[in-house]
Amino acid sequence: MTDTYDLVIIGGGPGGYNCAIRAGQLGLKVACVEKGETLGGTCLNVGCIPSKALLHASEAYENVNTTYGALGIKASGVSLDLDKMMASKVETVDGLTKGIAFLFKKNKVEHITGTGRITGAGKVEITPAKGKKTTLTTKNIVLATGSEVTPLPGVKIDEQRLVSSAGALSLPKVPKSMVVIGAGVIGLELGSVWRRLGADVSVVEYLPRILPGADGEVAKQAQRAFKRQGMGFHLGMKVTGVEKLKTKLKLSMEPAEGGDTQVLEADVVLVCIGRRPFTQGLGLEEAGVKTDPRGFIETNNWQTDAAGIWAIGDCTTGPMLAHKAEEEGTACAEAIAGKAAHVNYGVIPGVVYTAPEIAWVGRTEEELKEAGVAYKKGAFPFTANSRARANHETTGFVKVLADATSDEILGVHMMGANVSEMIGEAALAMEFRAASEDIARTCHAHPTLSEALRQAAMGVEGWTMQM
Ligand code: FAD
Ligand code: NAD
Repeated sequence: MTDTYDLVIIGGGPGGYNCAIRAGQLGLKVACVEKGETLGGTCLNVGCIPSKALLHASEAYENVNTTYGALGIKASGVSLDLDKMMASKVETVDGLTKGIAFLFKKNKVEHITGTGRITGAGKVEITPAKGKKTTLTTKNIVLATGSEVTPLPGVKIDEQRLVSSAGALSLPKVPKSMVVIGAGVIGLELGSVWRRLGADVSVVEYLPRILPGADGEVAKQAQRAFKRQGMGFHLGMKVTGVEKLKTKLKLSMEPAEGGDTQVLEADVVLVCIGRRPFTQGLGLEEAGVKTDPRGFIETNNWQTDAAGIWAIGDCTTGPMLAHKAEEEGTACAEAIAGKAAHVNYGVIPGVVYTAPEIAWVGRTEEELKEAGVAYKKGAFPFTANSRARANHETTGFVKVLADATSDEILGVHMMGANVSEMIGEAALAMEFRAASEDIARTCHAHPTLSEALRQAAMGVEGWTMQM
């Protein structure tokens, strides 16, 4: 361990592990320091993957009992084996984290288990869970330490009854009732999981709308769909406290604008009001790495203010998404290797994996209006898409926003079944700076859900055709 590394990465999540693998491919001598027992970070261990495993399984469970009837499938004696569902989730996570370890070996990335800290220029001290500290010498350091749950003042998470997303991914039994604080991505996804499995779920949100950041029209229609499924919403409400009673939790809230206190009771309360950068104990100040007032590491093309120290992923500004971290990890490794490196921050898709799914890329109507950009709009509902009709999955629509003069696509917003798989086409089109007419004149296979995107693009010039 006395050799000098080209690169030492602190953090083995999607930012760190993609950076490490790309650096290995480019021939750099690279080590990735991860304090957790497994690689993969939040995403693989307690984020994207376990949540998607439970979303998939719980949706199948609900469909057997509900929508499959309309397809002529009769099911009786269907029951939930929650332990098995959780075991299946764990098996998926295990397989994928081991896959990263395999990719590290394949690309000559050294995996070091321990907590990393910058102790001087080009010095990373490693503290393992057991045993002696060591110090690595390196030309470059990449900080990829991710994020942690934003706490709600006065509410202490115990991961049993008062849970964060991590606890909500591993509840040992289905609660009779659950209150979710925060109608963002985690609240809607994990609220959906437990509602489908039998919990009575209501969501308390500070703002007067769900999903801030998503297009307003999509958010409105999505809320209607979730309401029809039985999810309750208390919008524009501020939580003032959660009291632990013997068996129940008593949540107090009042209107954000001020007003009388209201009380909700639940077996489990899920706190998901956002995440904040995690940079504790890294020695940032001593190393001269600047953070903004919210604690995010400030970067310019992934370089911090301190020479040879870079930062990527959730611990820096921008959307807290695995694919954003991955893009930055790859680009940062390429920049360190002296290659041209680029991330197109205008084309990072967002997806909410509920049913219906919600997906978007580019700017919302609200953002375009605020920026004073003149735009044209085409929309198409899934009720008029033949594949959606055949599948009995007609909730939702696709909306294409294009520049009023040049026709360049500025944003695409979708709600419907499988739109997580459809948004890639819109992202690719935007990456190539396509016009809406380019999608409108591209032959799409019939019958597919993606024809709805084409029809919405045709709608920009007013020539949408029904079915
Ligand atoms: P992380 O994945 O958080 O990894 C950081 C790693 O650094 C961790 O493993 C941590 O242990 C390690 N670390 C920290 N400090 C040190 C240190 N000093 N020394 C050594 N190691 C250290 N995003 C999506 O795009 N799609 C989704 O579907 C999605 N679902 C999500 C669901 C949930 C419930 C949650 C919580 C998040 C979800 N996200 C999703 C967000 C996604 O998980 C993050 O954006 C992504 O993991 C960020 O990657 P990262 O590499 O920046 O950080
Ligand atoms: P979020 O930012 O998506 O939503 C938090 C919600 O809580 C917002 O609607 C906000 O207005 C509300 N809120 C904030 N303070 C509140 C308060 N005191 N009382 C009531 N409501 C309050 O955050 P999240 O859902 O916790 O997710 C964290 C991060 O994880 C997000 O940045 C997201 O990108 C990422 N994530 C992504 C996915 C995905 O891509 N599918 C899934 C899960 C998580």
